[in-house]
Amino acid sequence: MASLKSLARLKQATIISPAGFSWRFSHVRFASTASSKVINIAGRDVSVPTGIFINNEFRKSIGGNTFAVENPATGKSIVEVEEGREEDVEAAVKAARDAFQNEEWANSDPAYRGELLNKLASLMERDKEDIIALEMIDTGKTYRQASTLDFPGSVGTLKYYAGWADKVTGMSSFNVPGTFAYTRREPIGVCGQIIPWNFPLMMFSWKIAPALVTGNTVVMKSAEATPLSALKMCELIKEAGFPAGVLNHVPGFGKTVGSAIANHMDIDKVAFTGSTTTGRTILKASATSNLKKVTLELGGKSPNIVFPDADIDNVVAWSAWGINLNFGQTCHAGTRIYVHEDIYDTFVQKFTARMAEIKVGDNFDPTTDQGPQNNKMQLDKILEYIESGKQEGATIQLGGKVSTAGTKGGYYMEPTIFTDVKPDMKIMKEEIFGPVVAISKFSTEAEVLKLANDSNYGLAAAVHTKDYERAVRVTNALQAGTTWVNMYNFVHWSIPFGGYKESGLGRECGEAVLENYTETKAVYLNMGKEAPQ
Ligand code: ADP
Repeated sequence: MASLKSLARLKQATIISPAGFSWRFSHVRFASTASSKVINIAGRDVSVPTGIFINNEFRKSIGGNTFAVENPATGKSIVEVEEGREEDVEAAVKAARDAFQNEEWANSDPAYRGELLNKLASLMERDKEDIIALEMIDTGKTYRQASTLDFPGSVGTLKYYAGWADKVTGMSSFNVPGTFAYTRREPIGVCGQIIPWNFPLMMFSWKIAPALVTGNTVVMKSAEATPLSALKMCELIKEAGFPAGVLNHVPGFGKTVGSAIANHMDIDKVAFTGSTTTGRTILKASATSNLKKVTLELGGKSPNIVFPDADIDNVVAWSAWGINLNFGQTCHAGTRIYVHEDIYDTFVQKFTARMAEIKVGDNFDPTTDQGPQNNKMQLDKILEYIESGKQEGATIQLGGKVSTAGTKGGYYMEPTIFTDVKPDMKIMKEEIFGPVVAISKFSTEAEVLKLANDSNYGLAAAVHTKDYERAVRVTNALQAGTTWVNMYNFVHWSIPFGGYKESGLGRECGEAVLENYTETKAVYLNMGKEAPQ
């Protein structure tokens, strides 16, 4: 029981706390509510909340910290956002646990959860232009990409999983004599979702839709470079009518918020998308904390194989898209192109001409194909890889420098092609995460398969050929979670996505991901089985 002294202190603190302040547990520390900011984005005024979202309210961080969100097109700050730390994660986990146990959510009709996701999708459609503008200023994406890929990919994911709401069922069996057995698919509990900066809006949807529709609750961490679309989505979560605490969002840094989630004893599952290095850290944290379930979607260095019978113009178009999508900041980018020796020269010439047409510049200019890279650290990393490619003897066929489009201080990079790239060069082995592609020549199918599979990664791969027997044979032999034939970089929310080898654990999207968000409980009913003597 609380002592009289502590009750008096609590009472006194309640009386003196200014309006709008809320209590955190019974401590004398409290968090005030955080407000929204209006950002002018290319002439459009867009309002965005700037707080930590817990129990359906936006709060200031308990420690009083904020961080600046930068526009990659200028390198300048757009807005200050509340920075979560361990104590904020603590409050978010408590809210998520309470919500998980609350009847309103725990025993909810699955169809109701589907309806909430559909409502969220329609609110997104209502606020489409604001959400796209926020995503563009935060990431550097072009309108073309954000409006045809990121936005519909996010809305489509919500609607798709809304449809799964009342279709997740178990099995039943009379096969064991004397018993009737059935299984229940139960939600796992509190899910800590850690997302990266390359597809902030889409990853938000990928990480909430299957988790919520199966009855879990969520503590989300957006990437420190790109929290804005997640902040906006939280506003819509509340408006859609999700019960308080079902979805919480703690913006902040990996070493504090991310690590607190990965190590938390009351988080039951973590789903992470990001680098392989951080993925390992998260898996270790699970092992040394509560063995929370972990799914990981990590890096890649994906091969794109061109046989001599392929339609060369089609190959050039898809291979350019394979690297240019999101300006190379895609884990499944086609960064290693292997071209058969018979068409190598033609391919290099046509591909170079196509890549040279890419217009780099202001991502708000509708004629731009490639905006800035997302952040300075990433641009510096790309430049280091280019230097290493040169040092190791590869030939720069195109680009290789910071683009002059960046005179306003943004992080613009020239589309870059390396030829004469050898298998052991760093630019052929490591993930660069920028518009840089390495091309190499092969002569036989067996040789190219060996080269393609010679990687620690196994996220994606493609083969271009008119010979469908070869296409099937080669895709069967490729060690990758997603393979394409005569196309590249097409991923859909209804089809499983994930990696072989060091590219990840588990699958996202499609029906496959629902396994990751449910525990299967077996129930045996005695139908006349006698107790053993
Ligand atoms: P990138 O190198 O692309 O930024 P990261 O793997 O570092 O990829 O980041 C992806 C997400 O993981 C971000 O939200 C980041 O804050 C978070 N993160 C980074 N370090 C850790 C960590 N040690 N524990 C948990 N999350 C982390």
